[in-house]
Amino acid sequence: SVVRLDRVIDGALDRSRVDAQAKFVELVRAGETDLRVAGSEQQLVIALGNLIENAVSYSPHHTRVVVDVRRTAPDPDTAGVDGVSQIIEISVSDQGVGIPEKELERVFERFYRVDQARSRETGGTGLGLSIVKHVAASHGGAVEVWSVEGEGSTFTLQLPLRNDPTVDIPRPGGPNGATTGEGPAPA
Ligand code: ATP
Ligand code: MG
Repeated sequence: SVVRLDRVIDGALDRSRVDAQAKFVELVRAGETDLRVAGSEQQLVIALGNLIENAVSYSPHHTRVVVDVRRTAPDPDTAGVDGVSQIIEISVSDQGVGIPEKELERVFERFYRVDQARSRETGGTGLGLSIVKHVAASHGGAVEVWSVEGEGSTFTLQLPLRNDPTVDIPRPGGPNGATTGEGPAPA
């Protein structure tokens, strides 16, 4: 079904509000609005929520976590295939502990945690990022990480933006003449 990205981001941010407030981490929403992707709102909230939860967990007090939404230029190899002409990138950037370069490849593995001693304080299981990777792949997308140890990390969730009108939310009385039960699309 068609998912409003703004709802995914709001839902994901809500899951970390209490933890963020407790350590004075500012949650900032930036970039484009009113975009839609095809998939499961529930799964996307969990995936983006895991990234935001990590950003808050692995950051010191009085820092900032930014969730930014951008559209990239179409990949010439995939443009037009499947109605996918552009990629939406949802990035979660923090000013936290960062990840050593040699560990970057491994953080998406199930149960993998960087520096057990350091991570133990935060009490996770090491599954969060493997779930993000799984959800991204099942939506035809991917997840990337960029990080500098001691400076911060940026995790980017890439999802196909579907321009195919058959997966867009039909407007009541619009050319498709049908409704999805989601209510009218914003003007
Ligand atoms: P959980 O299953 O509760 O999410 P977790 O957070 O340890 O446990 P992942 O979310 O999969 O597991 O993350 C794996 C490891 O990657 C973390 O233990 C941490 O060492 C590192 N990591 C993930 N996100 C960040 C981040 N934003 N900044 C620094 N390190 C991170
Ligand atoms: Mg986690």
